[in-house]
Amino acid sequence: MTVPGAYFGMAEHHLPPGDTPLVELATLAPAGSRLFAKLEWYNPTGSIKDRAAWFMFHNAKRDGHLPPGTPLIESTSGNTGIGLARVALLNKHPMTICLPQRATAERKQLLRAYGADLVEVDGGPNESIEVAKGLVADGEGFMCYQYGNPGNPESHEMGTVPEMVRDWPLEAPPEHIFCAYGTGGTITGCSRGMRKAYPDIRVHSVEEFTTDPISGMRSQDDPFQPPVGDLSLVTDRHEVAKADAFAAVSLTMATEGYFLGTSSGAIMHAALTFLSDHGGTAIVVLPDDGWKYLSGPPWID
Ligand code: PMP
Repeated sequence: MTVPGAYFGMAEHHLPPGDTPLVELATLAPAGSRLFAKLEWYNPTGSIKDRAAWFMFHNAKRDGHLPPGTPLIESTSGNTGIGLARVALLNKHPMTICLPQRATAERKQLLRAYGADLVEVDGGPNESIEVAKGLVADGEGFMCYQYGNPGNPESHEMGTVPEMVRDWPLEAPPEHIFCAYGTGGTITGCSRGMRKAYPDIRVHSVEEFTTDPISGMRSQDDPFQPPVGDLSLVTDRHEVAKADAFAAVSLTMATEGYFLGTSSGAIMHAALTFLSDHGGTAIVVLPDDGWKYLSGPPWID
C-alpha cells in the first residue's frame, strides 16, 4: 500500500483503497507510441472514486465533523456515492445520496445494496448539489462535498500518483498522462503529483461537450467549475463526443479485452487520437469499467 498504513491508525480492512494495476495496451497503441492504463475499476466498489470517498470520510472523522452515527449526505452522479456508501456502512453511519433521476438502474441498485437512502432529483449533477446543500442547511447531516473537498485531489497525490511512479516500467519518464475532468479531483491530484515526479510530463484533461454529457465528466465550458479543481498544471485539453467514447469502448474490448465505462472510452479516444498524430509514451487513468452502463446506450437504446 503506497499511502502509509498508519495514516489514520485504521484497522487493516479500513486501509485506503487503490494499488490498482498499471498495464500496457500493446495491441491498441498507435505506431511510435507506448500506452499504459491504470485500471481503476480494481478498487473495492469498482471505480476511481473509492479513493476520494475514503480520504474525505476519514479526513472528516479526523477533523471532528462525524461523531458516531452522524448521517452523511452527498450529491453525486454515482461513483463517489457508491464509495461513500461503502465507507459509511463499514463505519456505521447512515447515508443519503442525492442523484440525477436519469442515473442508471445499476447505480441506484448498488447504492441501495450498500444501505444508502436515495433522493432522485429531476435534473443533472448541478441540481443534485443544490438539493443536497438544502438537506445540510436543514441540519439533516454532514456533506463531504466532493466538489470542494481537498481530500478528493489528495487521494490521488497520496495514492494514485505514487503507485504510477512505482509501477512505471520504462527507463525514460512518461511523456503524457490523460485524466477525465469531472469534479477535478483526479486531474488536480495527478497533475500536481505527476509534475512533481516528472516535471516535463504533459497533462491532458479529457472533457465532455456541454451539449453531449458523459456520466461523471464535465467541461471547462460548464458554468459550474468545481472549486476543488486546479487546472493550472494542465497542458492540453480534449473534448470528446459521446459517440467517439462509445467507439473507443468497442475498440478497446475488441483489441485488449477490457470493457470500459463511457468516460474511460472518452479518455482512450483522446489518447489514441493524440498518440496517432504525435507518438510518445502515455498513461491513461481509466475511472471505471462498463458493467454499470449496460442498461443504457450504446448497449440498449
Ligand atoms: N469518470 C467517471 C465514471 C466518474 O464517476 C468520475 C467522477 N465524477 C470521473 C470520470 C471524473 O473524476 P473526478 O471526479 O476525479 O474528476
